[in-house]
Amino acid sequence: MGTVNTVLGAVSTEELGLVAIHEHIGYGMPGSELDTKWWKTPEQAYEETVPKLRAFHEFGGGTFVDATGICNGRDIDYYRSLSAKTGVHIVASTGFVGGDTALPFFEQASVEYLEAQFVHEITVGIGTSGGRAGIIKVGVSRGGRMTELDKRIYRAAARASLQTGVGILTHLAIDAENAIAIFEEEGLDLDRVLFGHVDDGVNFDKTRDTWIADQGGRIGFDTFGYETELPDPPFWARPRKDRLDHFLRFIGAGYLDKVLASADANCSPLGWPGVKGHTVNYIFEQLIPDLRAAGVDEATITKIFVENPASFLAIQN
Ligand SMILES: [Zn+2]
Repeated sequence: MGTVNTVLGAVSTEELGLVAIHEHIGYGMPGSELDTKWWKTPEQAYEETVPKLRAFHEFGGGTFVDATGICNGRDIDYYRSLSAKTGVHIVASTGFVGGDTALPFFEQASVEYLEAQFVHEITVGIGTSGGRAGIIKVGVSRGGRMTELDKRIYRAAARASLQTGVGILTHLAIDAENAIAIFEEEGLDLDRVLFGHVDDGVNFDKTRDTWIADQGGRIGFDTFGYETELPDPPFWARPRKDRLDHFLRFIGAGYLDKVLASADANCSPLGWPGVKGHTVNYIFEQLIPDLRAAGVDEATITKIFVENPASFLAIQN
């Protein structure tokens, strides 16, 4: 198989185990963690996060992919200590989403500048931590259409992916025609791209999931658990059964090789209260039981959570 960059070093894909492919240790808008209202001591952050990762490990979880970009509270030293404490492999991201989730510092950066930054974080390390990024996060910023900055980030990500062999994970799969055009211009195999959030309550009906898969892209049903059944559902929630039926329909149409699933939960959110009652462990507590109840066999579950993530995360040489 191959290897994957985790925050504590390269790991063989065979050691990844069950993978949560799009999650967050703690995501926030740029600067929100500096607000007195939302201030968190390191002790609070550990207290909120460690039990969730320990439970993930006890349920049989192996690898937690942190899809938090450069501008949104990513903290590699903290991730390294969390991984050491809990035994969970953590994969960190380079890259970021544009618009109001980006820091002004990076907004004017050229494609070449961003590419060099992403490549450095993948091949040398993030800052002086020694921890390397294992994935590149990009996304479509608010508005539903890719902006000029979004396109610059996508192009830099494509070049960094080609140089380093790590995959790209997108926030949203709307306006995929523009994304795919950039990846094709750069000569990137779409198999290296996971088009995320095809299942969220706001965007699912604007997302051409089967078309993207037909072009070769991988598809992320990665907002499982944000459902209208929650006591205080977020605006992107969706009825549980709708999402599950959508997922089963997609697999049933012959796209099992292309699919990945996750919960996009925050262990300890930054600058917002988070969504009560939703954690990464939704995968074990609800999703896998729901799949079994729907007649999905164990080989298919292994394919979704073990084999497909390993093939996507493996560094291509
Ligand atoms: Zn996310």
